[in-house]
Amino acid sequence: MSAKSAVVIGGGLAGSEAAWQLAERGIPVTILEMRPLLMTPAHKTDRLAELVCSNSLKSNTPGAASWLLKEELRRGGSLLMKLAAECAVPGGAALAVDRERFSEAVTAAVAGHSLIRLRREEARNVPSESLALMASGPLTSAALASALQSLSGSEHLFFYDSISPIVDAETLNFDRIFRASRYGKGGDDYLNCPLSEPEYRAFHSALLAAEPAETHPFEDPRYFEACLPIEELARRGVDTLRFGPMKPVGLIDPRTHRQPYAVVQLRTENLRSTSYNLVGFQNHLRFPEQKRILRMIPGLENAEFLRFGQIHRNTYVNAPRLLARDLSLRADPKVFLAGQLCGVEGYVECIATGFLAGLAIAARAVGVEFEPPPRTTALGSLVHYVTHADPSNYQPANISFDLLPPAEGLERRIARDRRARREAQCQRALAAFDEWLIRQGVAGSGQTSDISSQQPSQPAAGPSSATKTERKTREPAAALAAATRAKCD
Ligand SMILES: Cc1cc2nc3c(=O)[nH]c(=O)nc-3n(C[C@H](O)[C@H](O)[C@H](O)COP(=O)(O)OP(=O)(O)OC[C@H]3O[C@@H](n4cnc5c(N)ncnc54)[C@H](O)[C@@H]3O)c2cc1C
Repeated sequence: MSAKSAVVIGGGLAGSEAAWQLAERGIPVTILEMRPLLMTPAHKTDRLAELVCSNSLKSNTPGAASWLLKEELRRGGSLLMKLAAECAVPGGAALAVDRERFSEAVTAAVAGHSLIRLRREEARNVPSESLALMASGPLTSAALASALQSLSGSEHLFFYDSISPIVDAETLNFDRIFRASRYGKGGDDYLNCPLSEPEYRAFHSALLAAEPAETHPFEDPRYFEACLPIEELARRGVDTLRFGPMKPVGLIDPRTHRQPYAVVQLRTENLRSTSYNLVGFQNHLRFPEQKRILRMIPGLENAEFLRFGQIHRNTYVNAPRLLARDLSLRADPKVFLAGQLCGVEGYVECIATGFLAGLAIAARAVGVEFEPPPRTTALGSLVHYVTHADPSNYQPANISFDLLPPAEGLERRIARDRRARREAQCQRALAAFDEWLIRQGVAGSGQTSDISSQQPSQPAAGPSSATKTERKTREPAAALAAATRAKCD
């Protein structure tokens, strides 16, 4: 392999997008994809970019965080976003795709690219002789996971996700909630939802009767004792939760001056305290069940959930500990990570990090310093989270407005209206993203959703719209080197 070529391990969502972006910038790529020689427990075909579960790429409603991320990808010339639009099926507010047509289309495009070679082979080691992207996903083969473990340290590679729900602070009922830390240690850091005995018993009964989320055959529910789901704790006895995550000791409700019968504690997710996680409330219940049952908790009657609890098989690294801002490993900068493995969650987030890693590796291949997208963009915020979150309690994230910095200098009328505020954040993000694309020498593909064409700037024609001859004659080094760089906070 020459220094200006790259290996991509895994032809999933992140790997296919990254390989395309690299090849479109003139970098020859070899994809190592182990299927069909070795199948994962979830994939059913040998196709690239197979969607293993739902066929939804989430909201396509302008103003939603997931829409914003997709819109940025569309503007950046993402192959998978373009093909998703071509394979769309009716999905209400969501971008849903015909999964067969989608993976067929990705396979045809990627395998048909003149600079991409697709090899059906299990990678058992991290390649050392060239630039490499590890995009082997949540079900990375055992041999490769063990090689990655040797490189990263076993304590920084996880095999299960155990996620607590997160609520939007604006939707909490502070008539019921009080601020306090246990035994007064730590000031007012926690929000506490107090439950009376009847409220606790009703909550316990609801948990016992709750409908669990589907478990895949390979997801043997062997939970860590230290990280049991709340429904499992409820099954162990009526008081188990009260002696576990719902213990009230050391907490006095200032309204009653008494210790409540049980308490649910909320801990802030960010310095702005715009969202809170329910401490120790990891669970494996269906999302509608979680919404119904968790709203029985006093103070959460109208809570909006930014993320629901989950426990599932997932291979991912402690990204803030291991990755630099271009998604390369600090311990071995020739190796980049993308997709679920780099600690994001969700189809679009995997495509997004694949897109970004493709650009970052292309920059490295031609010796140009990579500038990550601005912090005000959805992609920039997602990568900022991955590389800057608290490593001591790292959990993979979906894109949400919570990851984006708040819009500043808004008129009071707009600042007070959540929808208007988010629209302002979207407009700011898209304007910054377009400017970043230009600085990168990445003129967008011109793909935008209907509403986005009402947004301010539109990038000019770009990689995906180039003819084959144009692609072959493109001078990526010159294009990238010509780019003006601005520092991302
Ligand atoms: C069971 C399950 C269900 C999920 N459902 C959803 C959902 O409904 N919605 C959602 O948004 N997200 C879902 N996710 C999370 C995530 O979005 C998807 O798993 C997504 O496909 C991950 O993208 P990726 O590119 O990181 O990995 P993948 O798309 O899984 O691609 C990784 C590729 O690497 C290959 N590979 C693995 N090891 C090797 C090796 N050693 N050598 C060569 N190739 C290798 C695999 O065969 C695979 O093709 C789910 C995850 C799982 C595990």
